Amino acid sequence: MKNWNELKYSTYPIVSNTEIAEGAYILSIKREFNFLAGQVVGLGVSPDIPPRLYSIASGENDDLIDILYTEKSDGKLTPMLSSLNVGGRIMVSEPLGTFTNVSDNAVYIAAGTGIAPFISKIKSGKGKKPILIHGVSYPEYFYFKDYMEELLGRNYIQCCSRCPSDEFFQGRVTRFLNQWEGIHPNQKYYLCGSAEMVVDTRDTLIARGVPFANINAEIYF
Ligand SMILES: Cc1cc2nc3c(=O)[nH]c(=O)nc-3n(C[C@H](O)[C@H](O)[C@H](O)COP(=O)(O)OP(=O)(O)OC[C@H]3O[C@@H](n4cnc5c(N)ncnc54)[C@H](O)[C@@H]3O)c2cc1C
Repeated sequence: MKNWNELKYSTYPIVSNTEIAEGAYILSIKREFNFLAGQVVGLGVSPDIPPRLYSIASGENDDLIDILYTEKSDGKLTPMLSSLNVGGRIMVSEPLGTFTNVSDNAVYIAAGTGIAPFISKIKSGKGKKPILIHGVSYPEYFYFKDYMEELLGRNYIQCCSRCPSDEFFQGRVTRFLNQWEGIHPNQKYYLCGSAEMVVDTRDTLIARGVPFANINAEIYF
């Protein structure tokens, strides 16, 4: 990741910074620049701390830029982010990144906050009839659940690794994909999450007959 002096950036007042589940927040600023769904911005609170990257979780034409983030208690930036108040200022880089491809009938596979670029694509109306498979540890982390249920209906698949209830598929996305009858090798698959999640999911898809060329990934490191 580049340093602040290698990036174009501005500081913006924070419109809201709300905890939506334990340790998970949505921070919003007014949208004063254009971006492509799937892009990221670098965020920071001071030039001394190198920027961290965050996917934009809003639609291309929305009034606000939303960032969905989780606080890492031993992290450098996120404990500071979570304590920022409305009206405080945040450093935001120009939009970056190339996870912007779109296809009809795409399958989006996300773990945790990795849902953010897919929220942006869906809210921007990019690609017809996507399927979204979201994996989380506990049900409160199904971010944007109501919106996804209403918009995607049966094409919104929730996988929960630590939920006792059978309201959701029980287990990680890889376990779901291993037994899913909806896999079609010619569709495009978009993955977003930790390096481990992306590698395991890609291996699972390849084992199920999906060609490598049909798999795109964004890794949160
Ligand atoms: C393309 C991209 C998009 C991303 N989008 C999002 C998003 O939308 N939402 C989101 O929540 N996150 C996202 N991330 C992750 C985000 O950029 C940060 O990495 C994350 O928020 C942690 O930042 P932090 O400063 O709090 O933690 P950091 O200080 O960066 O530390 C992160 C973790 O690494 C450990 N660590 C730090 N330094 C070392 C070291 N030297 N050796 C071993 N371990 C170490 C820490 O203990 C901590 O657990 C994205 C990352 C990338 C690359």
